[in-house]
Amino acid sequence: MTEIQCVYCMQTKTISSYSKREHVLPQAFGLFSNNFTLDQEVCDDCNKYFGDNLEIDLARDTFEGLSRFDYGLKKNSEYKSLGRRSRLVIKVAEGQFKGALVYLEYSQETDKLMIRPVKQIGFLRAEDSEYAYFSLDKVPNKSELDNQRVDLTRHNAVIALGMSSEEAKEILAMRGIILKSWGDAESLEPFEDAWNVEVTANIDSTLFRAIAKIAFNYFVYCEGANLARQAGFNTIRSYILYGIQPDYRLVDILERPILADEAVVGRRRLGHLVTINWSGDHKSIVAMVSLFNLNTYSVSLSRDFLGAVQSLPKGHFFNIANRQILPLQAL
Ligand SMILES: [Zn+2]
Repeated sequence: MTEIQCVYCMQTKTISSYSKREHVLPQAFGLFSNNFTLDQEVCDDCNKYFGDNLEIDLARDTFEGLSRFDYGLKKNSEYKSLGRRSRLVIKVAEGQFKGALVYLEYSQETDKLMIRPVKQIGFLRAEDSEYAYFSLDKVPNKSELDNQRVDLTRHNAVIALGMSSEEAKEILAMRGIILKSWGDAESLEPFEDAWNVEVTANIDSTLFRAIAKIAFNYFVYCEGANLARQAGFNTIRSYILYGIQPDYRLVDILERPILADEAVVGRRRLGHLVTINWSGDHKSIVAMVSLFNLNTYSVSLSRDFLGAVQSLPKGHFFNIANRQILPLQAL
């Protein structure tokens, strides 16, 4: 009976344990007419682990994942908020409620993602007359407010968003803050998605591992499983599968686009990019990954690699507009 060694767990299993195809790029980021897949190289256990643990977070809880709705890879009606567990912090970027914490919610009425305020209390800062907003678990107490020179006697010194003024008063009272007069709490109506928001994403090791998997998948796809099974790739393998981090960084975010002719800020081609190449000193193999051509991630696939690799550099562009995957020199 045919047996195959999985390129991730390195276990040798019968062919029946390889019934699923591993997509080089998770399907959540688009299907392409010539999808890149690994067939009979990643065992079903590893494939399922990746889907349940790495890809789901990459798709649902990153700036890139959110961009799937902007670019039509996902319907607005399929949006699910992760609520307080989310790694994304979304704030109003300008206008009356600048700095307010918001979340996205699907509206059936408009078929759009709308922005709604989370429960929070804002205090008018003396220095710039803008509000500093605090989620309910972070509302400062009276002495902290005094230190920050918030003058509670000022008109509209405090506003509550996403909640009633009664509820806000109770929370303030628990912090030793009693307001003499306070009308109705300001209400923040849901905004359309066109509202200017700032998204801050916490990128943790689960997400870095999901990116590293795309890079290593691509390497296996281009260079073949035999090469990828060499010991030089054990470090990246155990990082992706088990989260074991060596004493150097395997995944980094770079402040520049992958394509040399594109600007750091401004319009870029719409698609995903994956490349592999030798490092500058020709000792290590490094991949670059960018989803929607937004953040650029570099992934160290193998440090001080001693073997031969046929065809570096190599890269592909996953074009979202026409769903074609193109080799990079064809761009
Ligand atoms: Zn496996």
